[in-house]
Amino acid sequence: MASSRLENKNALITGGASGIGRATALRFAEEGANVAVADRNLKGAEEIAALVTKLGRKAAALAVDVSDEAQVDAMVARTVADLGGIDILVAAAGVSHARYGERNDHPVPLAEKPLADWRKVLAINLDGVFLCDRAAAREMIKAGRGGRIINISSGAAKLPLPGSGEYSVSKAGVWMLTRVMALELAAHRITVNTIGPGFIDTPMTAPVQRSEGFAKRLIERVPLGMMGEPLDVANSALFLASEDGRYYTGSILHPDGGVVMQ
Ligand code: NAP
Repeated sequence: MASSRLENKNALITGGASGIGRATALRFAEEGANVAVADRNLKGAEEIAALVTKLGRKAAALAVDVSDEAQVDAMVARTVADLGGIDILVAAAGVSHARYGERNDHPVPLAEKPLADWRKVLAINLDGVFLCDRAAAREMIKAGRGGRIINISSGAAKLPLPGSGEYSVSKAGVWMLTRVMALELAAHRITVNTIGPGFIDTPMTAPVQRSEGFAKRLIERVPLGMMGEPLDVANSALFLASEDGRYYTGSILHPDGGVVMQ
């Protein structure tokens, strides 16, 4: 049954064409939100925006590279123009490693890591979240209605992943960015939280899942004994975006089957 925990709210979701961002866009629309779906994959964003429209909400599909300052500022301006404002940002765009989409053999120890690979991941996963948060916060401050900023980091913000050092560092950076912004924006009634998912079934983890031995070893580390679904993360984002989450700021939620507590 349709519910309305986000009725009349305008949400911008980066990485909205795939995986966690996609599930969040649809979950938010089910709960009454208008949604701007932003991604570097415009065709994918358009498909999700069409599904949002089908649910009876306003939607926009926006092409963006979140590591590009001008594109991010334009994305937020378009969201405000198309939806009439921005109440919620979910910054979900990210990559797992520098050759994401090109090859699976990404584990490279930091002692051998090319600087270009390090910079590429930090540019998208950390600079990108900073740029999106900053642009959204400016609009929320201007509108004076408060707001919710939700950054998708990772369990890797707390657990060092050998071979994926630049990913762990980028996600730990998002966790600190979240806390600093939470303090700086509290007076404007803007909450800033992060979600640190565990091992979630999305296109990002597809290469790992194809490597049977590796996937088995990862799942053995999950106390609940299974991967999570994108919806598990989307529901955490819904909680933080809705009235239920109003007293949370500077927090990290871990939909992770118990991995990070160990
Ligand atoms: P996904 O299915 O690959 O979705 C990520 C989306 O972001 C893709 O559409 C991707 O486009 C897009 N994107 C990548 N770089 C971008 C850029 N520079 N500008 C705009 N869009 C960009 O991955 P996911 O698993 O849903 O991941 C979403 C977030 O959750 C990421 O921040 C990830 O680090 C985090 N996370 C995921 C897991 C997991 O197990 N899946 C666990 C912890 C945290 P392309 O397809 O073109 O790359």
